[in-house]
Parts: sequence; C-alpha cells; structure tokens
Amino acid sequence: MKFPTTIAGSLPKPAWLAEPEKLWGAWRAEGAELDRLKRDATLLWLKLQEDYGIDIVGDGEQSRIHFVHGFLEQIEGIDWDKKTAMGIRNNRYVVEVPTVTAPIRRKQAVHAREAAVAREHTKRKLKFTLPGPMTICDTIADGHYGRRADMAMAFARALNEEARELEALGVDVIQFDEPAFNVFMGEVVDWGVPALEAAIAGLKCETAVHICYGYGIEANIKWKETLGEEWRQYEAIFPALNKSAVGGVSLECAGSKVPISLIRLLSDKQILVGAIDVATSRIETPEEVAAVMREAMQHADSERLQCSTNCGLAPLPRGVAEGKLAALGAGARLLRGL
Ligand code: ZN
Repeated sequence: MKFPTTIAGSLPKPAWLAEPEKLWGAWRAEGAELDRLKRDATLLWLKLQEDYGIDIVGDGEQSRIHFVHGFLEQIEGIDWDKKTAMGIRNNRYVVEVPTVTAPIRRKQAVHAREAAVAREHTKRKLKFTLPGPMTICDTIADGHYGRRADMAMAFARALNEEARELEALGVDVIQFDEPAFNVFMGEVVDWGVPALEAAIAGLKCETAVHICYGYGIEANIKWKETLGEEWRQYEAIFPALNKSAVGGVSLECAGSKVPISLIRLLSDKQILVGAIDVATSRIETPEEVAAVMREAMQHADSERLQCSTNCGLAPLPRGVAEGKLAALGAGARLLRGL
C-alpha cells in the first residue's frame, strides 16, 4: 500500500494518567496503579490510531514522561543527584541535567514491558521510538568520557541492546529520535551518524531516524524565528544519512520553512514526511495533508513516502491530537484515491 501513515512518536496522555497539555506532566498515580493506567492509555491510543487510519502505530509514549530520561533511568553510570547546568541544543535553553560519572551500562530491559503490551493489542505494524545517541549526549553532562563522541558510542551500545530486545518482541520499526542532528550539523557527520549506525547494528527490522525542529514549545518557536527564510539544516546532514545504514528519515515539512526539495538528498531512503504541524492547535484538513505529500512526490518516488506528523503530539489537547490523526488518515486515503 502506498503512503502508509504513521506518527513521529508521542501522543497526549489522558487526564487520568498525567497532567494534560504539558510536555512533561506529572503522573497521577504510582506503583501498580500507575502501571495499569499506562497500559490502559496505550490500549486507548492503539485503538484510536487504528480507527483514524494510522497504518504503522505506536504506543504514543504513554509510559514515559520524557523521551530521553525514560530510557536513561535504567542506565548505570549516571549520577542523578549530580546536576550540571547545561545549555541544551546549543544553548537554546538551560536546564539542570544529570551527569555521567562512570561507564554506561544498561542494567536491564527498559521498554520491554510496554512494547509487549502494545504488540499484544494490535495487528498493525508497530513502531517503537528510542532517543538517539547524539540527542542523549545533548541532554546529559559528561563527567567521565571526556569526548562527547566516545560517550555517544557508549550510549549507542546500550541502545543497540535495547533495540535488539524490542525487535525480538515483535516490534516492526525502531525509530531513533535525533532532534540534535539539526543543531550540531558538523558533528552529525563526524560522530552522530556513526553512533546512530552503532545503535541499529544487526537489526533486521525496519529502522528510522526522526529529525525535527522540536515540539511547539516557546523556546523552539523563538529559535525558529532566528533560522531565517529557509531552513536548510537538513541539507548539511542528509548526504551522510543517505549513505548510512538507517532505513528511513522522519522530517518536518508542514508549516515549516524547510524547502521540501531537500528530500532529493535522500534518494535511497524511506521518507517519513511530516504533513501535520505540531506547533499549532489548528487541525489540518485532509486536503492540506495531501498537498504536502503531493509536493514531496515532486522530489521522491511515491513508493518511498510515508505520511507522518512533524513531531510528537504530546503537549496538545487530546481532541486536537485526535483531529490531527484523523486528518492524516483521511489525507492518505485521498492520495490513494479512496
Ligand atoms: Zn520531533
């Protein structure tokens, strides 16, 4: 089937699971009760994705608050009490981050349980998202390795162990989220892509990397205002990605200043075209989704195109997120002539 639909990753958490309309809203419960609520929310979103015509579904990241810390919590070598103030994404915002103080080692399976729950409850293709090694290194301070490239390789090995387990559980697509790729373009070529390849080494399932301009939060909106009339960050990194082992690239297109012709640089890859803008609560029409895809079709064969969202939908009101999923599914049906 042409133009399969998918989501970049996160979906809003129901108000009974976590504080709504917050990027990192606090959990409403703890212990076994929290586990039950996470499972219920995962089931709910799987059903809704199916109903709205999403072909490659995900768990909507209902079991983690933060897309990086959810993984790091099960990693040895991190001192969570040793906070270091760090300018994230090249000083776009400063936060106190935990510090790596010893060799990185995965203590145990991180996301196995939630992946198994999702697998058990849908027959559709299942995607699971993990943070990419470069973005992890931009979210945590290095007090041990001395070189970010070395720390990235250590995280890549831990991610690879995790990814192989998820594949064995029946996950069809593993996607690594690398928003930092759009910020440190030179380093992406030097060590970002090699670390990504180390993270996907040996996987037989489909793989993808998601590179966006971030959630629709204020710091990101302000940063975008500094990027000028055309956002050409992808131009610096797509050639290296096209030569890499990763199967697909998920990128931001809708409502952005990215020249869509840049996908010509991904001639050997699946392209997950962001046809839903996550920085606005306005719900796209199916025709608008189809229009973004038609523009993409002028630069890549349609067999390689998937309809996706620009980024996660987590901070949006639930009704808006549902409306956007419905528009994505309906837009793909328009393209298929159904
Ligand atoms: Zn994103």
